[in-house]
Amino acid sequence: MKIGFTTTIPVEIILAAGYTPVDMNNVFVTHPEAMRFIRRAERDGYPRSLCSWIKGIYGVVRELAPVDRLLIVTEGDCSNTLSMLETFQIRGAPPLLTFNYPHNRNAERLEAEMKRLAESLGTTLEEAERRRSLLQPLRRKLKVLDELTWQTGKVTGGENHLWLVSSSDFNGDPALFERNLDDFLVEARKRPVKEPALRLAFAGVPPIFSDLYDYLESRGASVVLNEMQRQFSMPNDSASLVEQHLQYTYPYDVFFRIEDLQREMEKRNAQGLIHYVQTFCHRGIEDIILRERIKVPALTLEGDAPGALDARTRLRIDVFLEMLERK
Ligand code: SF4
Repeated sequence: MKIGFTTTIPVEIILAAGYTPVDMNNVFVTHPEAMRFIRRAERDGYPRSLCSWIKGIYGVVRELAPVDRLLIVTEGDCSNTLSMLETFQIRGAPPLLTFNYPHNRNAERLEAEMKRLAESLGTTLEEAERRRSLLQPLRRKLKVLDELTWQTGKVTGGENHLWLVSSSDFNGDPALFERNLDDFLVEARKRPVKEPALRLAFAGVPPIFSDLYDYLESRGASVVLNEMQRQFSMPNDSASLVEQHLQYTYPYDVFFRIEDLQREMEKRNAQGLIHYVQTFCHRGIEDIILRERIKVPALTLEGDAPGALDARTRLRIDVFLEMLERK
C-alpha cells in the first residue's frame, strides 16, 4: 500500500504504519512525460497562472493513480494544496489525509498533529520513534555525502541535489536506498579532490529545470549547498521526531530559514547565491527578504515548466558568474 504526499512529512510515521512513502513531486518531475500532467490539470480547469508543481501533482494523481492514499500538507507548505484537496473531493482521488505544520513552530501542536496522523494510519508515535532510530544511520550517511560535496568536491552539486531530494521518501524503500548510497559513497570517495572556480549556494524549492547543475558545472561553478534538499534529509541531530521536524526549516517562517541558510553558506564559503523561485509561487515574495538579508551576491532565477534551461536564463546565469569571477 502506497501513500503519496505533497511535500516532506514525517516519513517515519508512514513507514511505521507499514506503508510505502511516495513523494508526488518526484513522481511528477522525473516522469518522461511530465508536461502531460500539467496539461491534464489545465484540461480539468486548473488556471494557466498556477504553479506547475501543483498542476503536476494533480495530473499525476488523475492520470496515473499511483498511490492508495494521498497525504496533503495543508499548513506549512502551500496554500494551493488546500484548493487542490477540494478539487479532489469533487473530481475523485484516493482517500485523503492531511497534515499541518504549525506556523509558530509550537512543539505541542506539532506533536498533536503527528499523533493524529499516526492514529489515522493505525500506528503510534512510539512506533514512529523506533523507525526514526532505524533511519538515523542512513540520515548520517546523507550528511557524509553532503560533506563530500562542500569539503572535497568529490560529489557534484547535481548528485547532491538528487540524493538529498530523494530522501523525502527514500525512493519508497529505505533499505535499498541505503545500499545504493553505500555503493555511491565508496565510488565517490575514490574520486580526486576538486576545488571549483566558483562556489555557489542554491536556495529555494528544488528547481524544475533538468540541466541547471550540469550547466553551472560546465561554466566552472559548483553548488556546494542545496538549501531545501539538505533540509529534506533532516541533517540536524535531534532527540525526537518532534524535535527533528522543529529544526526542519521549510514549513516555517522565512527568517528561521535564512538563519540556517546564512550559517551554512558561511561554513561552506559560498561566494554567490542562486535563489530559485517557481513561477506563480507565493514563496517568490520571500525573495525580497532573502536578498536583503543574505550577505553575498544573489541571482533570482525563475522556472515554470519541466525541461531544460531556456536561452534567457542561461544568459542571466552567465552574466552572474562573470560578475562573481570579476569580484
Ligand atoms: S513551488 Fe510554491 S506554489 Fe508551487 S507547490 Fe511549491 S510552495 Fe506551492
